[in-house]
Amino acid sequence: MEFKDLRIKIIETSKLMLKLGLTVGTGGNVSVRCSDNDRFLITPSSLPYETLKPEDIVMVDINKGTHEGRNKPSIEYQLHRSVYLARNDVRAVVHAHPPIASALAVSRKPLPLITDACTIAFKDKVRVAEYGAPGSHELAINTVEALGNNTAVFLSNHGILCTGDDLDTALERCVILDKATLTYILSLLAGTPVCLKPLTD
Ligand code: 13P
Ligand code: ZN
Repeated sequence: MEFKDLRIKIIETSKLMLKLGLTVGTGGNVSVRCSDNDRFLITPSSLPYETLKPEDIVMVDINKGTHEGRNKPSIEYQLHRSVYLARNDVRAVVHAHPPIASALAVSRKPLPLITDACTIAFKDKVRVAEYGAPGSHELAINTVEALGNNTAVFLSNHGILCTGDDLDTALERCVILDKATLTYILSLLAGTPVCLKPLTD
């Protein structure tokens, strides 16, 4: 089997996403770019993470958009594909439905850089993509546009998407985004948040 280690890592990341409360049931999806740069591996659609086997993970050709495997890919495979096509630097993508960060996705408000952890995890304030239905072309287009050069984006009335050099980094950014959103909402109650500037490269 090709890329068995990456398939195992996708399954571990998906289980951790669930355990950390970043999604419920079969919500969310996880993908990683293969070392050939032309393909990525992604979780199958609507299968429980707890019982996934390496052969359940689906391979997608980034340029052609075709897929191989015994299962249907996540309904968001075109969303992940659009991110890989637009951003050569991205090697892993995690899409989750975390309860706190989703509050900003619902009120359609960006998260400013409110803590030092945010300035390290995100290149700039985390923007909100215009609404697109799950699995739709609009969702893919709007997400890539709002993501820009950043490492995270809110999906209106849906959830979040984080990128990384690897799966651990993409998942950790989901956690940081969820926790920073809680801090932001509390800081609005406590007074007027003071925001930080992006770090210069
Ligand atoms: P899949 O199970 O098809 O990946 O769908 C989950 C999801 O979060 C859709 O946005
Ligand atoms: Zn989703």
